Amino acid sequence: MEDPRTQIREQVSALCARFPGEYWREKDRARAYPVEFVAALTEGGWLACLVPEAYGGSGLGLAEATAILEEIHAAGCNGAAAHAQIYTMGTILRHGSEAQKSAYLPEIAAGRLRLQAFAVTEPESGSDTLSLTTRAVRDGDDYVINGAKVWTSRAEHSDLMLLLARTTPREEAARRTEGLSVFLVDMAEAKGQGKGKALEIRPIRTMINHATCALYFDDLRVPAANLIGEEGNGFRYILDGMNAERILIAAECVGDGRWFTDRAVAYAGERRVFDRPIGQNQGIQFPIARAYADVRAAALMVEKAAALFDAGQPCGEEANMAKLLASEAAWAAGDTCMQTFGGYGFAEEMDVERKFRETRLYRTAPVSTNMILSYIGEHVLGLPRSY
Ligand SMILES: Cc1cc2nc3c(=O)[nH]c(=O)nc-3n(C[C@H](O)[C@H](O)[C@H](O)COP(=O)(O)OP(=O)(O)OC[C@H]3O[C@@H](n4cnc5c(N)ncnc54)[C@H](O)[C@@H]3O)c2cc1C
Repeated sequence: MEDPRTQIREQVSALCARFPGEYWREKDRARAYPVEFVAALTEGGWLACLVPEAYGGSGLGLAEATAILEEIHAAGCNGAAAHAQIYTMGTILRHGSEAQKSAYLPEIAAGRLRLQAFAVTEPESGSDTLSLTTRAVRDGDDYVINGAKVWTSRAEHSDLMLLLARTTPREEAARRTEGLSVFLVDMAEAKGQGKGKALEIRPIRTMINHATCALYFDDLRVPAANLIGEEGNGFRYILDGMNAERILIAAECVGDGRWFTDRAVAYAGERRVFDRPIGQNQGIQFPIARAYADVRAAALMVEKAAALFDAGQPCGEEANMAKLLASEAAWAAGDTCMQTFGGYGFAEEMDVERKFRETRLYRTAPVSTNMILSYIGEHVLGLPRSY
């Protein structure tokens, strides 16, 4: 029987064919948001894949969502402009009230509301999320937010933002994992407060085209009705969503790895130096073969992690390993592709250098390699806790 994902893969590839290298190069040069690509994915219903049918989505599983993001990347496109729309809504779905779910999920599924922004990281706390200091203090029917976030991607291109803030000072919280809460921030409403001073968004120019920003909150008021779940339990809600995020990002890395190896194979077969295709030299052939094997192995771990997630089984170990292996495999495949292309790898028009820059992100975000190794060491292997 045909894998139902084959059709998804074919349809997504056909959509991506409308957005060739020139499109991405132009956006990259201008550091411009790929509005048309995101609109095409939205219209195709792809970003609503995980929203249940009852709320207007297609009710697919994570296995299908990984196929969508892998194909986007295997086609040379970049899902980073839109991927959060797929999984960030999971926090509302799993922990929101019925009123929040019916108010937001159908709008998110239809693409009328963009939930693309997810504000966790702060300038001081970095990977140590539990040390974050952005404060949310209850005042009547609102919470008043003060503090700062960094690397909040797509904040300028999102109608809603999930925000993790501290509602109980760290020293007063019963446990170190308590005292943080999740809020759904209406960005247009927030930008209008305090003559635009309550929420300041400063774009950060980076080595890739990623629409990422620093945010500053100065007495930003968020209605208490926009608190997701219970006050103080926000860290648990965010952790719940992280496995899905890691598996999906890993699928993007597998897609990148496929793109790099496909390109490297094609070029190594065509490019003739010393009267022979460069791919005839084992010094060129073997690294490509190794990259291919590593990407295929990472894909199996993504598949395993997604299957566990869809079956409602614990998948922290597999989700983390998938992200680790896939991000490393994509990076090695990228380096091999650069080496195969020789000097031409540096030319913008080949797209290799752009993809090489883009895939580097996933060794650092959404969680860096060391944090994953530490998770495996401590939580899987039972080694002593290091921090
Ligand atoms: C382009 C981009 C987009 C992003 N988008 C978002 C977003 O939308 N929302 C969001 O909330 N965040 C986002 N991030 C933030 C990202 O998740 C963080 O950069 C990442 O988690 C690492 O945090 P940090 O940069 O503060 O590094 P740090 O925490 O300062 O760490 C620096 C280095 O030290 C290592 N390190 C730290 N402590 C230890 C330890 N105990 N043992 C071993 N190694 C250690 C880390 O692994 C890392 O390699 C984004 C980042 C980038 C660059």
